[in-house]
Amino acid sequence: MRTSSERPTHAEAGLGAVLDVDTAAIVANWRELARRHGAPAAAVLKADAYGHGACAVAPSLARAGCETFFVAHLGEALALRAVLPAARIAVLNGPNGPQIPSYRAAGIVPVLSSPGQLALWREAGGGAAFLHADTGMNRLGFGEAEMAHLAAEPALLARVEVALLMTHLVASEEPADPANALQRERFARLRALFPAWKTSLANSSGIFLGADFASDLARPGAALYGINPTPGHANPMRPAATLTAPVLQLREIRPGESVGYNATWRAERPTRIATVGIGYADGWPRVLGNTGHALFDGHVLPLVGRVSMDLTTYDATDVRGLAEGSRVTLLGEGVAAETIALWAGTNAYEVLTRIGPRVGRCHR
Ligand SMILES: *Cc1c(COP(=O)(O)O)cnc(C)c1O
Repeated sequence: MRTSSERPTHAEAGLGAVLDVDTAAIVANWRELARRHGAPAAAVLKADAYGHGACAVAPSLARAGCETFFVAHLGEALALRAVLPAARIAVLNGPNGPQIPSYRAAGIVPVLSSPGQLALWREAGGGAAFLHADTGMNRLGFGEAEMAHLAAEPALLARVEVALLMTHLVASEEPADPANALQRERFARLRALFPAWKTSLANSSGIFLGADFASDLARPGAALYGINPTPGHANPMRPAATLTAPVLQLREIRPGESVGYNATWRAERPTRIATVGIGYADGWPRVLGNTGHALFDGHVLPLVGRVSMDLTTYDATDVRGLAEGSRVTLLGEGVAAETIALWAGTNAYEVLTRIGPRVGRCHR
């Protein structure tokens, strides 16, 4: 067997931008989240595990004891089924009519969010399903009146085994937001209608709201991948991704010369430009033009000019040791997803989930 030190480097392998994923960090984060929850935790692997490669990380989580996995789409669930033969896989966005046979054939658990979806599942023969109640998001889920109607008409649930009643918090990353207590109270009222059902409440940040927000199954996503579930406080999680891309060319330019489309940046001194093989087609936000930096060996390379489709340019004048073929770090140690999110005017979730399919994934 080759050891990891014998693996070809990304450059040797001819790879462009690469996301290196530390699977052990994701597993450690999952264990830590379950420990803090004081009750089981699922793993939310939607959007290809927030960009980290769902099918690559899922088996490690299953071996660590994770039994329930959430994705958003049926297609994501079917892909996971191929690597998770025995786990419970649930689809947050729920089924439509034509999809029902696939759910049943692959043993996928639908998350039912409306009376219409419940009727589809019941009429197809029922069985295990999760029921999503809306307690304030006003996005997906049974409303309070619809839940009361279900309680009054048990025939609506004929043959349907509700394995979990779940709801989703709107502002769990802000502990002081009154929405948290309000949703917890609404959820308590709904579960009182069906005392035998198990429940699922907290997402990543919800786990950190304390014992009042514990349930039979937490549903962390972001924190598994090292996104800080406690913004404004030290990150208790281990980041799991490092994004690097190769320096394709180094060039020296004179003061007054511009870089990139529309000449949005001009050199004020003799400047060395590093042209790096990543662009907005890889999910590297175009809005980062003239904003933020990459790292090489602890040195900062300011991003200069526009981000183009396949290339991004950096000022490498003050960086020693950088050569054509070197790989710069765009995200990872020293550049958190949260930092890039700040530069790009978005959140860390979007930064990670936008990293596109053209970026290679390497897991260790
Ligand atoms: C995405 C999602 C989660 C995971 O949320 P994180 O904030 O990433 O932990 C949990 N539940 C539902 C319903 C979701 O859509």
